Amino acid sequence: MKYNRSIFLLSVLAAFLITSCSQQSVQEANQSETKELEAIFPKGNKGPSKFFTGSAYNYGLFPMDSTFTTLVGNVYFEPGARSNWHTHPAGQILIITDGVGYHQIEGEPIQVMKKGDVVKCPPNVRHWHGASPNTCLQQLYIVPNTEKGVVNWMEAVSDEQYKKVD
Ligand code: MN
Repeated sequence: MKYNRSIFLLSVLAAFLITSCSQQSVQEANQSETKELEAIFPKGNKGPSKFFTGSAYNYGLFPMDSTFTTLVGNVYFEPGARSNWHTHPAGQILIITDGVGYHQIEGEPIQVMKKGDVVKCPPNVRHWHGASPNTCLQQLYIVPNTEKGVVNWMEAVSDEQYKKVD
């Protein structure tokens, strides 16, 4: 009798644990849609509206000099935020550290970027990058050989262009 009661209590406990775990993962999944991402670096300064649509924040990680002719920093894009179209005379490497975002080279489909993705933007190729409509994006950028130039800014990415995800 006592044995059966223990089994019953264990079953109740197991059911409770399974239920609470699955509820927690559903909550986490829902939260990841809306909550701000956990930042590795300070948020930095808001990018000017002449270069960005929506809210994007830049934080430079070190100043370039004659030894390291390289620019490295972090950009935090809030949902819907993106850069204008632009080129980098020496190219750019993006390392996605959190969230979900978009990257597009002109003439190619929009590419979805997620945490852990590494994206190369070749030199002098028109492109843009930013967050997806519902999720933030954290990206590290590396611009090498800055003696050739850093960035040439162009026009904004229209809502029509931004929503053209396959
Ligand atoms: Mn770029």
